[in-house]
Amino acid sequence: MRILIAEDDQVLADGLLRTLRGSGAAVDHVASGSEADSALMTNNEFDLLILDLGLPRMHGLEVLKRLRSRGSALPVLILTAADSIEERVKGLDYGADDYMAKPFSLQELEARVRALTRRGMGATSNAIKHGPLVYDQAGRVATIDGKMVELSARELGLLEVLLQRAGRLVS
Ligand code: CA
Repeated sequence: MRILIAEDDQVLADGLLRTLRGSGAAVDHVASGSEADSALMTNNEFDLLILDLGLPRMHGLEVLKRLRSRGSALPVLILTAADSIEERVKGLDYGADDYMAKPFSLQELEARVRALTRRGMGATSNAIKHGPLVYDQAGRVATIDGKMVELSARELGLLEVLLQRAGRLVS
């Protein structure tokens, strides 16, 4: 798994690098929006982008907008200031997959990274197991003890969200 971190706060970036490398990911780090933009343009091997919105030399939202306008479906986790609900909403509107408001726990970030990269893997590794329940994210099929469970599209969507965030509160 290869992750690009775009974060200009060196202390936070170091924490992210240590945590994610510790969990076995290959991690690249850039400290400005323009560097993030060119890294994303020249390398399509990333599995996840962790994107601070308040970046020098190009705002994170602009980086995200440019990424999506190139047709990339790369999973993106944005990092926002705690008080900026507006930025968060804009980020999600521009195609971010999830967000973390600062300050956040590195443990929670790790869990979200796991969920996002699972989702991003698409066809390769897509089954989530929870006890006897197995959910195939690509085929959108749920089975219990190998028997298919008939669910509506809405129920499947709900199940998917709950499984991806197992053990956490979902609002
Ligand atoms: Ca920043």
